[in-house]
Amino acid sequence: MLNIKSCSKYILFPVLTLSIISCKEKNENQRTDKILAVSSITIIADMVKYIGGDKVDSRSICPVGTDPHTYKPKPSDPKSIAESDIVFINGLGLEHWIEEMIRNAGGNKKVVKVTDGIEPLKDEKGYGDPDPHAWFDVNLAKIYVRNIADALAEVDKPNELYYLQNLNDYLLKLDSLDSWIRKQIAEIPEMQRVLITSHDAFRYFGRAYGLEVRGLQGISTEARPQTEDIKKIVDLIKERKLKAVFIETSVNPKLLQEISRETSARVGGTLYSDSLGEEYSDEGTYIGAVIHNVKTITSALK
Ligand SMILES: [Zn+2]
Repeated sequence: MLNIKSCSKYILFPVLTLSIISCKEKNENQRTDKILAVSSITIIADMVKYIGGDKVDSRSICPVGTDPHTYKPKPSDPKSIAESDIVFINGLGLEHWIEEMIRNAGGNKKVVKVTDGIEPLKDEKGYGDPDPHAWFDVNLAKIYVRNIADALAEVDKPNELYYLQNLNDYLLKLDSLDSWIRKQIAEIPEMQRVLITSHDAFRYFGRAYGLEVRGLQGISTEARPQTEDIKKIVDLIKERKLKAVFIETSVNPKLLQEISRETSARVGGTLYSDSLGEEYSDEGTYIGAVIHNVKTITSALK
């Protein structure tokens, strides 16, 4: 007669093994179901989200409203990088803190610098460092999304066509955004086409769309504003009778508010510079944030 106790040992074993295997498969499926793409900033993460569509889980290390120049990584950030399939960074000196995390995540991580192929503007106030804020020239944003689509197609060959279709859709949207911006800026009187902000995040934007750009803090918020720079900006506002200055969602507005009190220029509104708006809002997308900025600038300076 069979001993039930000893038999159950043999029956249980394969059942347990099977359930362990199916659990493992499930975890691996969850892990490989979508490409896990981690970007340094919300602007890049949104572009990855559009190009990646339902094939990619796109996340940003810097949360909404955070300044990437002075970002202090969370304890969970290195783990996010280590678990990702692909990492997208802006480069050009924007996110120094990410380099160590990428090194610690192991040697085989695919890291894509989305500004590859862009000739950067140089910092005029500092030591000639590259200016990282290339995304606000919509024609340069096209290079960002092309780099993103190429990289996704490389790590996920079977969906190459899907990414290229999304890229083409997005490029069309960027083309219409670009011509819309030009029409809007043309409505601002020429003398008023000056964009004064907390830090120099809009030099590419200004170059592309014909606005003179002055930031209190240079291309990085790490730099302290110099008394001389503040005086120059106050003089410029008075001389050109500028109607407005603009604060940024990711930068302390205090100094610009003081300048506004000292001059005739009011605070014309808040611009998205190094971070998008809240997720699921219009401004939570790159295109929505640019539209918000352009509407804010034109209605304050017209
Ligand atoms: Zn910046």
